[in-house]
Amino acid sequence: MSIENKKTGGISVDTEHIFPVIKRWLYSDKDIFLRELVSNGCDAITKMKRLVSLGKAEAEADWRIDVRVDREMKEIRIVDNGIGMTSDEIDRYINQIALSGALEFIEKYEGEDAGKSGIIGHFGLGFYSAFMVADRVEIHTLSFQPDAESASWSCSDGGEYEMKAGNRTTRGTEIVLHVTEEEKDYLEISRIREILETYCAFMPVPIYLSAVGENGGDEPVNDPEPLWLKSPSECTDEEYKAFYKKVFHDERDPLFYVHINAEFPLNFKGILYFPKLQDEYASLEGQVKLYYNQVFVADNIKEVIPEYMMLLRGVLDCPELPLNVSRSYLQNSGYVTKISNHITKKLCDKLNALFNNDRKSLEGFWDDIKPFVEYGCTRDPKFLDRVKPILLYKTTENEYLTAPEYLERNAGKGEENTVYYTNDTLQQVGYINLFREEGICVAVMDGIIDSRFLSFMEMQDHAVHFVRIDSELDKVLKAEEQAEENEALSNVFRQVIPESVTLVQEVMKSTKTPALLTLAEEKRRLGEILKQYGKTLPGINVPEDEVTLTLNMNCPLIARIAALSADEKSAEKAKKLARQVYMIAVISQRGFTQEELQEFIDSSIDLLYNA
Ligand code: ADP
Repeated sequence: MSIENKKTGGISVDTEHIFPVIKRWLYSDKDIFLRELVSNGCDAITKMKRLVSLGKAEAEADWRIDVRVDREMKEIRIVDNGIGMTSDEIDRYINQIALSGALEFIEKYEGEDAGKSGIIGHFGLGFYSAFMVADRVEIHTLSFQPDAESASWSCSDGGEYEMKAGNRTTRGTEIVLHVTEEEKDYLEISRIREILETYCAFMPVPIYLSAVGENGGDEPVNDPEPLWLKSPSECTDEEYKAFYKKVFHDERDPLFYVHINAEFPLNFKGILYFPKLQDEYASLEGQVKLYYNQVFVADNIKEVIPEYMMLLRGVLDCPELPLNVSRSYLQNSGYVTKISNHITKKLCDKLNALFNNDRKSLEGFWDDIKPFVEYGCTRDPKFLDRVKPILLYKTTENEYLTAPEYLERNAGKGEENTVYYTNDTLQQVGYINLFREEGICVAVMDGIIDSRFLSFMEMQDHAVHFVRIDSELDKVLKAEEQAEENEALSNVFRQVIPESVTLVQEVMKSTKTPALLTLAEEKRRLGEILKQYGKTLPGINVPEDEVTLTLNMNCPLIARIAALSADEKSAEKAKKLARQVYMIAVISQRGFTQEELQEFIDSSIDLLYNA
């Protein structure tokens, strides 16, 4: 007997051709054959269970699927104790329906590289995917029906099949794959275990793996009742953490998790975890596993998870997702957008709940999630809206404040509606101390995306302005008194500082700091942008040179230099000291170049000799 030629929509695919096509095609992901066959076994058992629960059949409750690998015989056997098939049903479901399903699928995607066109998890190929690894497939089955007779079917990869009475004596189905020489890797039990652990880890029926002639197979390889199916109120913190560690092979606890249980019409479940990252750069790639009724489909389907959430780990079970479609379809699917929005909402709800009920833990891992939250804000206006009230700014005193809390704290001390920040707590320690003396909080914004985030937030919310602590400092640091310009002092300093540096004299509140270099916030940002694009624009100077050196007329050291510079005899000494003061301002503002460092060491030694 040969399976008849099949015609669909005018395109004809000869059945003899389907087998080579199945073999050739999907070379990137042959592993799915096992998922297809094991999930057929699960379906058959689910059907049987339903019949039993409806009282339409009787069966013992020992539901199981066995996967047996026989290296000698080059066979893989997949055995279930499900509903079974009569020979009529084999004819209908396997010879006709399954074949036409596979044909349809192949016709739709023939000629496309599965990897490139991104057909989600290759759903739709079904039973015939067995021919990706086998040149002969057999079915031995006994239907649950009282008078059923066992039936056998055997088909070669040429499309020739044979049906006859079988000799199976127990209810259920056994699929035998005669693995080709080319695919003999699949006869390694470790390989099969790996595939089962990936694709079948949470299928709803216990799956036992064994190698013929060897012991083993006492423990199922899967967890038929994964945690996400339980109601969140029934799950404990320990269970969530244990599940995470097992599924993602991470010894560390996740920072927090969200259990999603979306009811009709979205109807999907899942648990998302926020992992503890190694450092800012490591493992920005998370892992969200997508399931379809407990059957693994694929990792990181970016059409479903918003791109900025890709560092999350988790499991999502979406039985409503149309999976026998390509990724480009998903991109335009309204349902997928709704799932993605729902995930965003749940995650934001969780962050808000932590903020309101357990702020200490949120603060405890804020540093870890900050890059993600900030990035999310810049990517998704909905996300921004939802997390805005809980955005925290860490201060140099290790406090975590929201913007309103920060402004409240600093009220009356600096410029209004201004958040002062440092992007380098070591380099800018001098400025930080000046602010500390004035009792003004400084936010630490030293992450890789912080500068972008600040500009972004200013555009969103004109009420808050961010100023780095080495920018314009008038309101913060200046005393009320006006300084009288000391010309001799200016002259000395002018001789030892670059021409591009603006020189001013001010009375600061602090007496400690002799001089400060500042660079206006806007100029510095412009410089950063220009640098980013590697451009210089005509008419625009490199803004980094346009710094201002403020001499603190309230500092005794400056007073001393002023006195020295008034007398010609001590003018040389005044110059040396002035240069040293300038260099100290440089090291605090931007650090030294190699030459500057050498100069600073030499001049310090020189000054020590004269001390
Ligand atoms: P699908 O599972 O998507 O329906 P398949 O090609 O995998 O498509 O299978 C076609 C049909 O063959 C199934 O719908 C089912 O009726 C029947 N079938 C396959 N495997 C089994 C099995 N192990 N036990 C009983 N019936 C099966």
